[in-house]
Amino acid sequence: MSNWTKSLLLVVLLVLLLSACQPAPVQPAPTPLAIINGALLDGNQLVPDGVVILRGDRIEAAGPAAEIDIPAGATVLDARGGTILPGLIDGHVHNAAEPEVRRKFLEAGVTSVCDTGAGAVQLRQYQNPQDDMPAARAYYAGPFLSAPGGYPADTDDSARLEVGTPEEARLAVQQLAADGASYIKVALDDGRGEEPLPVLSIDVLQAVTAEAHRLGLTVRAHVLDVRYLDAALDAGVDAIEHIPAPDLSRQVFELWMQRDLPLPLPRAYLEELQRLAGRQIPLTPTIEVLERRTCNAVARSEKERTACVRVYIEALRQYRLMGGVIALGSDYGSAGMPAGLPWREMEFLQQAGWSNAEILTAATANAARTCGRASEIGSLQPGYLADLLIVDGNPLDDLTALQRVQTVILAGQVILDK
Ligand SMILES: [Zn+2]
Repeated sequence: MSNWTKSLLLVVLLVLLLSACQPAPVQPAPTPLAIINGALLDGNQLVPDGVVILRGDRIEAAGPAAEIDIPAGATVLDARGGTILPGLIDGHVHNAAEPEVRRKFLEAGVTSVCDTGAGAVQLRQYQNPQDDMPAARAYYAGPFLSAPGGYPADTDDSARLEVGTPEEARLAVQQLAADGASYIKVALDDGRGEEPLPVLSIDVLQAVTAEAHRLGLTVRAHVLDVRYLDAALDAGVDAIEHIPAPDLSRQVFELWMQRDLPLPLPRAYLEELQRLAGRQIPLTPTIEVLERRTCNAVARSEKERTACVRVYIEALRQYRLMGGVIALGSDYGSAGMPAGLPWREMEFLQQAGWSNAEILTAATANAARTCGRASEIGSLQPGYLADLLIVDGNPLDDLTALQRVQTVILAGQVILDK
C-alpha cells in the first residue's frame, strides 16, 4: 500500500469516527401547555383553583394552583372559571370506526369510545385508522367470542368468532390479541327466543379468561339474563355488559304497571346482583338501549314500556345500595342510538339514585377499567394521556354542565375552544 493510499484510508477512518461521535439530532421538547383558572374535577375529587400542565400527549402535573409551577415558555390556556376534568369515555359502543362518528363524540367531550363487538370490516378500519380528522380515541374488542351457532344470531358471521372447545378459545384469544384487541368480548346469551341459541360452556369460558389474562387483556361479558351471571362470575370475567333483567311473571308485571312505587324484586335475582356487587367489577347498565330494544319490543302500550324501564331502574337502584360499581356506556351503534354525550343514560343513572360524582366516575375511571385502560385514560394523574374537557359550571352540583363544553383537548392538542 502506498503512503498516499495509507493517508487516504486514515482520513476516511477519521471522518467515519467523527460522524459516529456526532450526537443524534435533538428533537425540540414539546412546548408545555398550562391550563389555569379552573376547578379540577377527577372522579369525586374537586380542587377549586387548579392548574394542569400538559407536555406532548401526556399530563405532566395537576393540582392546586399554589402547588404547581408553570414551566417557563408554557402556552397558557385560561379555563375562565370552568371545570377541568378528564375526557369522558363511552365504554360500550359499536360501529364507531368511521372518524366522522367519533368526531361527534369528541366534540361532545367524549374523548374515548370502546367498541364491544365489531365485524371484519369495522375491525380493519380500527386497525388502520384514517387520521384525516381528530376523532375520539377508539379501543376495540373485534368480534364476540360465542358458542358455535350462538349469539349474535342476526348478524354477519364476521361479528362472531365461534369457539367450541378450550383449545379453540385459547387460539381465538391469541388471534384477537394479535389483531390489536384492547379486551375480549364474550356473549352469554341464548337469544331469548323460542329456539334457544347455544351458549359458551363454563370450561370454554374459563379458557377464554385464563388466556386473556395471561396476555394482559380483560374480558367483558354480554349478559342480558341473570341465569348466565353465575357462569360469567365463576369464570372470572372483568366486566358485565347490560344490567340483567329479573324474570317477572305477567301477574307481577301488571302490578308494576298499576303502582307508582317500585315493587320488591325477586329474592333470587337480588342475590345474583349482590354477588356481582360483591365482586366490585364494573357493570355497564345501558338502560337506554334496553328501553329502546327490550322494552319497546315487549311493551304493547306506553304504560307497559314505562313499567319495563322502571324495573331496570329499580334493579340499578338496588345494585347501588349493595355497593356495586358501574361504568358508563351507551351501546351506540345499536337501536338507533345517537353519537355524542350519552345524556339520557346519565339521566337514568340519576333516577336510580346514583350521585353526580358517581356518574362522573362511571364516565371516566370506571369506563377506563372496562376498556382495559385504567392506567392510561380517565384520570388527571401525571403520565395519563392528555385527554381533557373544560365545561362551564360544576358537574358535581349540576350534571347538565357537561352539556356546556368550552374546550376539548385530545392527546395534548386543543381540538375545540369556545
Ligand atoms: Zn353492545
